[in-house]
Amino acid sequence: MSKSELETISIIMVGDTSVGKSTLMKKFISGQFSDSLAPTLGIELYKKEVTIDEKQYLYRIWDTCGQERFRSLSKTYFRNSDGIMLLFDLNSTNSFDNLSSWFVSIKDSGAEDIPLILVGTKCDLEANVSEETISNFVNENKNIQKYFKCSAKDNIGIDEPFFELGKLIVKLIFPIRERTNSKIKIKKSK
Ligand code: GDP
Ligand code: MG
Repeated sequence: MSKSELETISIIMVGDTSVGKSTLMKKFISGQFSDSLAPTLGIELYKKEVTIDEKQYLYRIWDTCGQERFRSLSKTYFRNSDGIMLLFDLNSTNSFDNLSSWFVSIKDSGAEDIPLILVGTKCDLEANVSEETISNFVNENKNIQKYFKCSAKDNIGIDEPFFELGKLIVKLIFPIRERTNSKIKIKKSK
């Protein structure tokens, strides 16, 4: 089956600058860890074929730049995404504190109903955000479907967040997409 025939799963990666979005995404795509990636400018698209429950999908992963001036750009991409991966750096309390403003952006762009998972990065470093603070935040926030910890550097928890988000999308978003497509078909045949 060619890439264009595969069903696509579009994921957007967001979170403050330097939490490790590009590094995690590249580790997932190519298995490589690089500590000298050029900063992401605006938004970049990466693709990978992934098998979920014996079916192949094409992942389209949008890697965004976390800087404030690109927030409005991210908004349009939220709307075209099937799922959101929101990241913070376990080593940086600031990146954790800023999660609430990311939720405001997500809500403002009307994307609060799409599956979202939270990822704490760089678990190889000393954690400055406690497990208790994180679990309270996750429990109180109904928009977070799951939480994962990872380290691109030490190769811990790389695939899980991508697979789990993919599974949530197949379960929650695809049935809606099929219904919408069949509605369009009905209209066309009239
Ligand atoms: P982005 O701005 O969110 O895309 O962040 P980058 O992927 O560019 O990473 C920012 C910095 O964090 C870089 O210096 C990375 O090498 C470093 N980094 C990324 N992932 C890890 C990790 O798992 N462990 C450690 N120790 N550093 C990491
Ligand atoms: Mg980046």
